[in-house]
Amino acid sequence: MPNPSNTTRCLLCDTRLVKNGKHPSGTQRWRCPTCGTSTVRKRADLTHQHQLDQFLTWLLGKATQPEITHTYTGRTFRRHTEWCWQISPSLPRVTTPARHVLIDGTWCQRRLNFHPVLPFET
Ligand SMILES: [Zn+2]
Repeated sequence: MPNPSNTTRCLLCDTRLVKNGKHPSGTQRWRCPTCGTSTVRKRADLTHQHQLDQFLTWLLGKATQPEITHTYTGRTFRRHTEWCWQISPSLPRVTTPARHVLIDGTWCQRRLNFHPVLPFET
């Protein structure tokens, strides 16, 4: 489904837009030569990619949320990356039988609880 706000035509007079420098955030700025309006078009796919990159940087690194977004509290980071918690990673299907199996367990109150079984090849 095409996004009507993501075209290079003016939404007011339907004239083809021309490039007009960059927004301070680095996004392309467009200007209508007829009516003079200036717009910045956002791409949802690039925004989500950037948010996921920031989320993974925070999740797998040592930087705090405010350090990643250069803010004081990190609230913006949490609001922007809230959807990233809904991603469920999937492991590839095991097609070859494992020769060795690694089993981890914990002894709790006379009961041995096994943890994930991880097949591996040597
Ligand atoms: Zn226009």
